[in-house]
Amino acid sequence: MRRVALLTLAFGLGLCASAQGRPPIVDVHVHTSPRYYGEVLDVLAATGVTRFVNLSGGSVGDGLEESLAAAAQHDGRVLVCANVQWRHFARPDFGAEQAALLEQAAALGARCLKIPKALGLGVPDPDRPDRYLAVDDARLDPIWAAAGRLKLPVFIHTSDPKAFWEPVTPANERYAELSVHPNWSFHGPQFPSREALLAARDRVIERHPGTTFIGVHLANNPEDLEAVDRTLKAHPNLFVDVAARVPEIGRHDAERTRAFFVEHQDRILFGTDLGYGRQLMLGSVGTNTPRLPDLFLFYADHFRFFETAERQIPHPTPIQGEWRVDAIDLPPAVLRKIYATNALKLLWGEDAPGEVDAEALLTAPGLSELF
Ligand SMILES: [Zn+2]
Repeated sequence: MRRVALLTLAFGLGLCASAQGRPPIVDVHVHTSPRYYGEVLDVLAATGVTRFVNLSGGSVGDGLEESLAAAAQHDGRVLVCANVQWRHFARPDFGAEQAALLEQAAALGARCLKIPKALGLGVPDPDRPDRYLAVDDARLDPIWAAAGRLKLPVFIHTSDPKAFWEPVTPANERYAELSVHPNWSFHGPQFPSREALLAARDRVIERHPGTTFIGVHLANNPEDLEAVDRTLKAHPNLFVDVAARVPEIGRHDAERTRAFFVEHQDRILFGTDLGYGRQLMLGSVGTNTPRLPDLFLFYADHFRFFETAERQIPHPTPIQGEWRVDAIDLPPAVLRKIYATNALKLLWGEDAPGEVDAEALLTAPGLSELF
């Protein structure tokens, strides 16, 4: 803990200085365990991030209670998503059972539901064990309906980068990452196509207009901004986060990307895919072990991308590819929404029109204790 405090002081102050004028930030896409909530808040406060959402909250009787109890110690700065117990997928009433658990989760204080990419790419279909359970399988409808009724936004991870469907050879632009994680490859006839997965997800969103969905990783289609634009326009109940996708988002023409962000400014949320535990995950995991200074650089690279007009700068997640990105220089009012206001409205349920209360958000008791 002392080491964390010193590093936070040493590297965080530099960022704080450059964060002058930046609104307080909410990271809606973090994976951590309840024992680290205080530490994550302390470390992130040095970057200007004052609240976060833990997408790995667990489920009722399986970690969720501990997550919520820990979050309750932090004054509303940590929100917890519930998870589905996929291991019970073969039970005949799986959907209804999980919907009932979700009801309990909401009553206990969970504020969202996180669906992993295992749905569509890992959970077997109980009727056809040689196939994966389809994302839009009707047996899951009770879960989506319950989330809508309970007003729990659903963070949904469906599909993955295009390159993960291509052969794992040195010609694959994500070869470095796939070499470290061969099981992230979905190349081969045993896997549904990327397009089929995304279409199935969109049918779920269509079928449940009363449920709010947050398509993580820019709806997992940052390679094709036009397609994400169409999907957002077709589904008013869909939001997106930018977690772990600045490398892809930044490859497009910066003016076009900026226009996309300005057009959809009310439906885009800042998130990073930070994993904080015994090891750090900064959007992805490579061969080397990131340390706290890397975490500060990771956030700084995000801010540089969204806030400056620089060309051909490093992106936050080097393992995701060796290219550079063009920053998109978002207007302050748009930044404020993407960094905080949209998340506060959608997840915290705070009516936060106009200015966010910067003073209240920036007061980080944990951090002052450290110093
Ligand atoms: Zn994630």
